[in-house]
Amino acid sequence: VIVVLLGPPGAGKGTQAVRLARALDLEHVSTGDLFRDHLRRRTDLGEAAESYMRAGDLVPDSIVTAMVRERVADGTRFVLDGFPRTLAQAQELESFAPVDAAVLITVPDDVLRARLTGRRVCAVGGHVYHVTEHPPREAGVCDVDGSLLIQREDDTEETVSRRLEVYREQTRPLRDYYALDSRLLEIDGTGSVETVARRMAAALGGIPALPS
Ligand SMILES: [Zn+2]
Repeated sequence: VIVVLLGPPGAGKGTQAVRLARALDLEHVSTGDLFRDHLRRRTDLGEAAESYMRAGDLVPDSIVTAMVRERVADGTRFVLDGFPRTLAQAQELESFAPVDAAVLITVPDDVLRARLTGRRVCAVGGHVYHVTEHPPREAGVCDVDGSLLIQREDDTEETVSRRLEVYREQTRPLRDYYALDSRLLEIDGTGSVETVARRMAAALGGIPALPS
């Protein structure tokens, strides 16, 4: 069973992937974790990826795909988070791990913008806050360690707009690809983590390969 999670930055994909994996007894595969693991173990793939990242380039499809292929080789039940990101990756994935369902978490742009641009991160411990949803006790200061809270470059208005544009361009073909043979499930990603998780479970309940 392979479930793919798709969604814009700020949709809560990572959080939902972890919950879904637990609920349906799937292994959670996140490309972020894969990268970190390969870098830590100094594998050939990790070193190849690092040379691109150091040069400020995107890691090529072939390297990411090879990491995923290796990770899913010894199992049968996975939820993929952060992969595929492009149509080429999706087509390659079919050749070694055919996808049963692709869940697309949709959230209106203005909600995503508010979620992302309001995010503040502790400069020392990485603790995460939000100016309205999860404010620190004292503005601009981390509750845990008293460090300064900063807005990451990724979360500024301008960068957020660009990230959402890139996401839309890359995801449209993926969405069409999975919709073509009815593997696409669209989920409303607004509301609490609980609410979204329930919607997702309900939508996946219709997939015979996924008894809950
Ligand atoms: Zn902190």
